[in-house]
Amino acid sequence: MNGQMGCQPSASMPAWHAGILPPMNRSPVSLALAALLASSLAHAQVPPAPVPDPEYDTCMVRMKAQAATRGVPTASFDRFLSGVTADRSVLDLLNAQPEFTTPIWDYLAGLVDDERVADGKRMLETHRDLLARVEREHGVDPATVVAVWGVESDFGRVSGKRLLLQSLSTLSCFGRRQEFFRGEFLATLKLLQDGDLADPSITGSWAGAFGHTQFMPTTYARIAVDFDGDGRRDLVTSIPDALASTANYLKRSGWQTGRPWGHEVTLPANFDTALAGRTNRRPLSDWIARGVVRVDGVPLVSSDARSAVILPAGRNGPAFVVFRNYDAIYSYNAAESYALAIATLADRLRGGSGLATPWPTDDAGLSRAQRRELQRLLLARGHDIGAVDGMIGNATRRAIRSEQEQLGLTPADGRAGQKILRALSSLSSPPLILP
Ligand code: CA
Repeated sequence: MNGQMGCQPSASMPAWHAGILPPMNRSPVSLALAALLASSLAHAQVPPAPVPDPEYDTCMVRMKAQAATRGVPTASFDRFLSGVTADRSVLDLLNAQPEFTTPIWDYLAGLVDDERVADGKRMLETHRDLLARVEREHGVDPATVVAVWGVESDFGRVSGKRLLLQSLSTLSCFGRRQEFFRGEFLATLKLLQDGDLADPSITGSWAGAFGHTQFMPTTYARIAVDFDGDGRRDLVTSIPDALASTANYLKRSGWQTGRPWGHEVTLPANFDTALAGRTNRRPLSDWIARGVVRVDGVPLVSSDARSAVILPAGRNGPAFVVFRNYDAIYSYNAAESYALAIATLADRLRGGSGLATPWPTDDAGLSRAQRRELQRLLLARGHDIGAVDGMIGNATRRAIRSEQEQLGLTPADGRAGQKILRALSSLSSPPLILP
C-alpha cells in the first residue's frame, strides 16, 4: 500500500508483490541479486568493502543530524546504517514509466484467483478468534481484513526483497522525490529506535512499503497498533499486529462498520456514462431512480447513502455501485484495480461466486497457476525466462511475443492471456495415438 494518497511516488505503483512486476523490477536476475544482497548484508559478519561515494556520505551526515533532532541518536544511526551503501538502481525504478499497460482483467485474474481464495479461507479459519477480536475493536469484518492481507503481501509470503534502509537512504539523497523519501527514511529510523522494528536489515518494496500490510513507514508510524500486547508494533513478524493495523487503517479512512463496499450492478440501456466515476457521488436513491439494479436480483434499498457508479473497463464491462467503504479500501492503494481486487476477493471469501458480467475481452487474464503453466510451456520451448514464479516479467513477455509472432497471433504484444496459453498447451500435447 502507499498509504498516503497523492504522496506516493506513483499513483499506479504496481503490485509487484502480486505477481505483476514493474518493468525495471521484473528481471529474475535483479531480484536474485537483491535477495543475495539482502541475505549477505543480513548475515555477513564483515560488510563488503565500501566503494567511495562522497556524495552519499555527505548526504548521510546531513541525515544523521536530522535524525538526531527526531530522537534518533547518532550512535543508533551509525548502528542502523552500518554497512549500508547507496543503491542507485532504485532511481531507475523511481523514474520508470510503465512500458506495458496491464488491463484490469489481468490484475484481477492474478489477484483474485482460486488459489488466493482458498488461502484466504484457510486464513479466516486459522485466525478466526484473532479476526473476531479485530472486528470487535476496530469494526472491520474478517473477510475484508484478510482480503487486504492477501492482495498486499499474499498473506505475508511476499513483502519485498530490497533492503529498506538502503533504498530509502538512496532515494533521500538522489532523484526527484528526495523530500518525500526523507520523511519515510527518518520514520523508519524512528521505528527502529523506538523498538517497534527490531531488525535494521528489513526488506520491502523499492519505494519502502514493507511487512504483512505493505505500509509505508510514515503510515506505519501513524496507524500501526500493538495487538499482541508485547509493547511493539511489529508489522513484519506479528500477524495480530498486522491484521489489527490493517483494520485500523480502514477505520481511520472512514470505514463504516457493517456496511457493504458496494455491489455489481446492471445499468439501464440509456444510462449516461458521464455520470460514472468514483468521485461522482450521489444519493443511492438517485441511482435507483435511474434504473440501476443489482445483478444478483437483490433489491437496492433506497437511501441517501453517498454512492457512485464505476465502470472500470467502460460501458461493456462489469458495473458497480460503490459506497463509503469502497473509498476506504481505495485509500489503501489509490488504484481502482487494487480496490476492486480487495473488494471482490472479500466477497469471494464470504462465499460469493465472483463477477457475473464478463470483462470486455475475448482473451481473459490468467490466474497465477495458469501463469506458471505458461512459463513452464515457454521454458520447454527453449525460452530463457528464468524461474517459473508466476510473475510475468520482461523475459516472459519477450518469449510470449516471439511465440505470438510465430503462431500468427495478433496483436503480438507479449501479453500473458488465455489465447497464448491455449495455443502453447495444444502444441505441447502429446500426439494422439490411435489404436
Ligand atoms: Ca506487538
